[in-house]
Amino acid sequence: MKSGDTFRTRAIHVGNEVDPATGAIIPPVHFASTFQQPAAGEWGKFDYSRSGNPTRSQMQNTLASLEGGVGALAFSSGMAAIHCVTMMLKSGDHVVAGCDLYGGAYRLLHKVCSRSGVDVTLVDMTDPSAVAAAMNENTKLVWAETIGNPRMSIPNLRELAKVAHAKGARIGVDNTFGTPVLIRPLEHGIDIVMHSATKYLGGHSDCLGGTLSVSDQNLLDELYFLQNATGAVLDPLTCFLVSRGMKTLDLRVRAQSETALSLANWLEAHPRVSNVLYPGLKSHPQHQLANECFEGGYGAMLTFELDDTLDRTAAACGATRLFRLAVSLGAVESLIEQPATMSHASYDPVDRARFGITDGLIRLSVGLESFEDLQADLDQAIG
Ligand SMILES: *Cc1c(COP(=O)(O)O)cnc(C)c1O
Repeated sequence: MKSGDTFRTRAIHVGNEVDPATGAIIPPVHFASTFQQPAAGEWGKFDYSRSGNPTRSQMQNTLASLEGGVGALAFSSGMAAIHCVTMMLKSGDHVVAGCDLYGGAYRLLHKVCSRSGVDVTLVDMTDPSAVAAAMNENTKLVWAETIGNPRMSIPNLRELAKVAHAKGARIGVDNTFGTPVLIRPLEHGIDIVMHSATKYLGGHSDCLGGTLSVSDQNLLDELYFLQNATGAVLDPLTCFLVSRGMKTLDLRVRAQSETALSLANWLEAHPRVSNVLYPGLKSHPQHQLANECFEGGYGAMLTFELDDTLDRTAAACGATRLFRLAVSLGAVESLIEQPATMSHASYDPVDRARFGITDGLIRLSVGLESFEDLQADLDQAIG
């Protein structure tokens, strides 16, 4: 593969080399759990599938190329990937995480990491000075999302990396909403990039997976050690599905982002809608930053607010025909959900109120259907 090839070309060819044994254009999926060794005590390229599997390696190589890292690791879910990062922490360590955070990450930090004596402080990641102020000598990890969930806040990654590194902490970001199409955090000085591959990388609501990508070999080795020691690896068939998904990632994210921007503009003018949170709108507080840092669009996740009760908002979410009422996101089919009762139900109610996850909030994952159909569907649902 020529290193000068573009993102879209690499998504199709890196990690998808022709099989030397058969000439197959698509590499075979290797289901073997174990591999013959040259001799006792000698190791071949692969020995046992938890430690390494050819299909997993291929998928990891594709992703590492797209994120611009030295390597990537594939996990059984996005949460397993975040958990692996938190396994680098020890009792007494402190984490500063974004207050606009995936519900599962919130739960992991507050209800699991807390059991091993790791402390968490949530801050607004769009304010680097607040992040600096929240850090102390025990802060070992800063954790943010490239596009916050559900309020679509956008942190300045370069500034955050400076703040974290100045105080001796590592910084990891969840790039699930952003995707490497829009933003490649390693290029901004971030140490670890995480994805729920369940979402855009897979792209078809048919598999569960997670990834970490890094640009430092020592850090990769450390994370690999933890993954192999604890075992939450991605299975070969799912690796194949994610590999297949990544081939159309660029095309999907650009097209879905374009539809999301059209919907955001239309929703902003809708009489029942009090607020639209979308980085592509001039009204978004980090619109300028998004223009500077994002390529190919503003993403296909969109949140809007009805000035209405929990129950009536829930009813609107249940009244769509094409937008399926479900958590998850990032696939070709559009989804709708109510953060207060669904994706962010694991938040403490006090934090929910504090961080603006109101009863009237609705989150959309805009799929690959046509704008006209999606617009008509939303229009009849919100009335
Ligand atoms: C879904 C999701 C996760 C968790 O990933 P799973 O694959 O469900 O374990 C983490 N972060 C974000 C932003 C997500 O959307």
